[in-house]
Order: sequence, then C-alpha cells, then structure tokens
Amino acid sequence: MAGHKDNTGDLTAMMERAGMDTRLQEYIRNTVSLHSYPAPGVLIGAIMVDYALELLGTNPDEKLYAVCETPKCLPDAIQAVAHCTTGNKRLQVLPIGKFAITMNISSKEDSTVAVRVFTDPKKMENYHTINTWFINSPSYDRHTMAESLQEEILLARRDILSFEWVRVKTSQKPKWNAVICPECGDMVPDYLLEHNKCAACGSKGYYEKIT
Ligand SMILES: [Zn+2]
Repeated sequence: MAGHKDNTGDLTAMMERAGMDTRLQEYIRNTVSLHSYPAPGVLIGAIMVDYALELLGTNPDEKLYAVCETPKCLPDAIQAVAHCTTGNKRLQVLPIGKFAITMNISSKEDSTVAVRVFTDPKKMENYHTINTWFINSPSYDRHTMAESLQEEILLARRDILSFEWVRVKTSQKPKWNAVICPECGDMVPDYLLEHNKCAACGSKGYYEKIT
C-alpha cells in the first residue's frame, strides 16, 4: 500500500522501546508475517493468544483448540502462534463480531474448561487512540494516527484485556459415508447434504459454469 511505512525493523524497534519480552516479540513478528502487514488487530491478537496460553499454563508445542469470534485479523494470531488452523480443524471462526478468543488444551472428554480472552471496552477507555480506532470513530485517521496506535497497543498489552473461564464442547470426529449428489454428480460426505443435494447445488453455490 502506498505510504504504508511498516517494516519489521521499525516494528522491532518499537517493541524494544515498549520493553516487550523476546517471546512476545516473536509471536507478533510471526503473526505480522502471516497476515502480511502489522494491522492493529494483529498486534492485539498476538498479545491475546500469548495471554491465553499463559492462563492455560501451556505453550504452542501442545495440541490446542481455539474459537475466534471474528474473522478479522484475530484468526491469523491464533494460526501463527498456537498452530490451530482451519486446515487442522483446531480453529473455528465464528462471525459474531467480538474481538475475543476461547482456547483450550486437547481433551478426550465431551466438554472441557477453556479460557476466553477479550478486549475490554472499559479498559480501552484508558487508551485514547486504541479506543478511537476500536469503536470505529470518524475521528480515527489512519494516515496520521497509525503509528501512535501501534505504540499504544505495544505499551498497553494485557492492560486492555480481560478473561473468563468457560466450558466448551469438544468436537468428535463424525463418521461419514461418501454419496453422489443427484444434481451435479459430485461426491460429498453424507453429513454435508442439504435436502439430498450437495451444498454447492444448495445454499453454498458460489459460481456459474461458463462454456
Ligand atoms: Zn451437487
């Protein structure tokens, strides 16, 4: 993006100035790398995942599960730091629109204790730029305020977050059979059929064939 002055060197210098430990610096750099630029939500996301891991008393080497309550920025922090991905099915992204994550350690039980970490609106009021950006206020100008926003986030860290302990259902692998869609002739797992048709011939059709 033109005029987007964000390189890793600047970011590292900013994290050093904020007195951030090397582990969190690495989490942030890995997330920024996956996301392709240091969006504010990416920085907060890495800080949130680091906090959740500490609360769970675990680390990214363990098999972890996560639910993310927004598709914006935050899923990349979970994927880059905790290796819960949509592909390994240990990350579920729900379009709820809250900047919150819930994480738990792998469990053989039907449900397990998890920690939910979220941005706390009351606490964010103490940080003017963060608050202005977060509430999508028209007075937030990304051309002049992006750098001070980054600085505030790196200084505030967990000071804008809260957490709660919750119970989540663990997902068991469904048994399935392969079936042929009568409309398009493609093979799909039976549990994804909609009214005996594949989802692409139903509610999830997203393309038209061209000849
Ligand atoms: Zn079909």
